[in-house]
Amino acid sequence: MRAFKNGDAIVVEPWRAKAFPVIKDLVVNRSAFDRIIQAGGYISVNTGSAVDGNAIPIKKENADKAFAAAACIGCGACVAACKNSSALLFVSAKVAHLALLPQGEPERKTRVLAMVEQMDKEGFGSCTFTQACEAVCPKEISISNISRLKKEYLRAGLTTEK
Ligand code: SF4
Repeated sequence: MRAFKNGDAIVVEPWRAKAFPVIKDLVVNRSAFDRIIQAGGYISVNTGSAVDGNAIPIKKENADKAFAAAACIGCGACVAACKNSSALLFVSAKVAHLALLPQGEPERKTRVLAMVEQMDKEGFGSCTFTQACEAVCPKEISISNISRLKKEYLRAGLTTEK
């Protein structure tokens, strides 16, 4: 609906994403995203006086990638566009953003495992890499974040004691 001319046909499809229940008409409940963030989308910090902003050097390349991933606004357009109703672009942006920064290191493994587990519990579908999510994302979140999430998930799964 971002661009259309008079006379254009609008096709309204049945809503596929069960993890985003319809509230009324075109309004859906996206609180599943909040629960995924609550599961691991945070970092631990010590209290006390503020740390110097430049105390921990971060490679420019990593800072740029983390910044790009952090631009995700949790709109859910990626889920709506995906034929499987996968939330992996959203989750991968959140995981990548923190995995690329030293501040995200303490919970790095538990974060990816917990967020993916919560995503599955919420009933989102599997990613089959159709790239529909990337095409519709208003913040141009790259699907390269999905590849990063898969590496993070594998690494965490192999090295975390149960
Ligand atoms: S469409 Fe883009 S900005 Fe919106 S939730 Fe998905 S990844 Fe985030």
